[in-house]
Amino acid sequence: MINITLPDGSVRQYDKGISSMQIAQSISEGLARNVLAAEVDGQVWDASRPIEQDAHVKLLTWNDADGKSTFWHSSAHLMAEALEALYPGTKFGIGPAIETGFYYDVDFGDKVLSSDEFKQIEDKMIELAKTKEEYIRKPVSKADAIEYFTEKGDEYKLDLIKDLPDGAITFYSQGNFTDLCRGPHIPNTGFIKAVKLMSLAGAYWRGDETRKQLTRIYGVTFPKASELTEYLHMIEEAKKRDHRKLGKELELFAFSEKVGMGLPLWLPKGTALRERLVNFLQKAQVKAGYEQVITPHIGHKNLYVTSGHYEKYGADSFQPIKTPQEGEEFFLKPMNCPHHCEIYKTKPRSYKDLPVRFAEFGTVYRYEQSGELHGLTRVRGFTQDDAHLFCRPDQVKDEFKKVIDLVLYVFKALGFENYTAQVSLRDPENRAKYIGTDENWALAESAIIEAAAEKGLTTVVELGEAAFYGPKLDFMVKDALGRKWQLGTIQVDYNLPERFELEYTGSDNQKHRPVMIHRAPFGSMERFIAVLIEHCAGNFPLWLSPEQFIILPISEKYEEYAKKVSDILKDSDICGLIDFRDEKIGRKIRDAEVKKIPYMLVVGEKEAAEGLVSVRKHGTGDLGSMSIEDFKEQIIKEITV
Ligand SMILES: [Zn+2]
Ligand SMILES: [Zn+2]
Repeated sequence: MINITLPDGSVRQYDKGISSMQIAQSISEGLARNVLAAEVDGQVWDASRPIEQDAHVKLLTWNDADGKSTFWHSSAHLMAEALEALYPGTKFGIGPAIETGFYYDVDFGDKVLSSDEFKQIEDKMIELAKTKEEYIRKPVSKADAIEYFTEKGDEYKLDLIKDLPDGAITFYSQGNFTDLCRGPHIPNTGFIKAVKLMSLAGAYWRGDETRKQLTRIYGVTFPKASELTEYLHMIEEAKKRDHRKLGKELELFAFSEKVGMGLPLWLPKGTALRERLVNFLQKAQVKAGYEQVITPHIGHKNLYVTSGHYEKYGADSFQPIKTPQEGEEFFLKPMNCPHHCEIYKTKPRSYKDLPVRFAEFGTVYRYEQSGELHGLTRVRGFTQDDAHLFCRPDQVKDEFKKVIDLVLYVFKALGFENYTAQVSLRDPENRAKYIGTDENWALAESAIIEAAAEKGLTTVVELGEAAFYGPKLDFMVKDALGRKWQLGTIQVDYNLPERFELEYTGSDNQKHRPVMIHRAPFGSMERFIAVLIEHCAGNFPLWLSPEQFIILPISEKYEEYAKKVSDILKDSDICGLIDFRDEKIGRKIRDAEVKKIPYMLVVGEKEAAEGLVSVRKHGTGDLGSMSIEDFKEQIIKEITV
């Protein structure tokens, strides 16, 4: 008998050689129907593989990331089987699971595959799936593996086998198709109920452009047809919400090749939006005891030698700017922390002065390869809503609690209701690789965990995910489409205080090192605004909208009255504009709806005579007419967050 420990800690006894699937069946048939694979002592295995000794077993289903990726990788094999049936002689490169779905790089010889053929490949996959072919694992010798693929004439598989040690090679077969693969796989093809091939791309074999370009086919599969429908709907919706598309349509930001790739230009409306976010956070930070600072966009090389950034990133970042006469070297600022350390050092600090909190909307520049750039989420210049807190070790927990409060306040104001926190701790097996004393690490780690618990956060704790210089807490936000984004970060740092020799005088009159905490609730303004645009589909909360109202005069005759209404609203800091175009009112309303302006105020004869506005709300419709004063009051109430 062997002992199997399940994730809840319970231990069950089974005969040696039991499979995870049989364990699932012994628990419940319903569970067994959903088991895709299993994690056995930390490794993902086929559910059918026999377990020969005591082990920790976690059964994996569609709800586990590893379950999904096993499902998708198995789907790549199914697609390959379908391709081989439809296009005999096809050669296969690699076919991994990716974040959503899978791909396979294949060589069709002279044939060029078109997406018109997707349907017949999908149909073939479903036909094969229905036969519930088992995925069968078979260890093979290197010689046998070479013989199989030599006979088949697949030079790509032979190229892969070449690098594998003899004794560690396995084949997986389902139906008539055999692949070189280390696995794992789902029990049989019958689990795959819905298939969609998404796109085609060219991919050089092994990423080497001197070698043959293969056809990469992307696909996605699901265990239920309804999940595919939902997924396709989500993709359509994501396209509509793409911040690059909406950013253009709503005139928020632009890029110019002349200015340089990855360097966003903020247009007036985008700037208005961004400024409001900045003011909002600044106000909250002042209340929370932060002090605003400003530092230059460049820093002397020595600053980064001290901070360690030069050694670590010097060669991979933007190259130095040199002065003509003195031969000094400056770097574009990749982060604000070193500058803030120097601000800390401008005067002696005592334990009574701590914590000090320096905040800066600091613009930083980091080199990214041009191919990696993406809208506002991957740029070369961006502004962090940065702050650095310098505190005593005993203050870490309190500071974390305060930052968590601030982050949650921001999320609430912006309509992000779905978030979790990830706490990244040291690898307990490998303590030597971290800087800072054991005592301080233990203190900071428990401070973060307790702070998160006291604030009621749903937390995942990841061992070994901490940076070498300190533990951290990251916020993961789910947007309206259920996509996950990593936003705010709170990071403890024992490294920079050491490198910059930061000190404070303790109550014992001795010198001590303060703890440094980096934090950014938005992360960066660029990335945050991108996420916000996609989350709210460009329908910003009223207080953030660059244009809160538009006045639509029915004809030229009411322009004077429109100006009067506009002035009254602007006096109360409500921003908007007047549509002076000589267009029909229906057209003006349609255009304002497209621009997603929250309030449309139609003014004509009746309104001008009685001091009224006819109010339409974007996405809601007609709200009827009301006095200018009543409208103003209502807006002010709505804007106050
Ligand atoms: Zn495989
Ligand atoms: Zn920092």
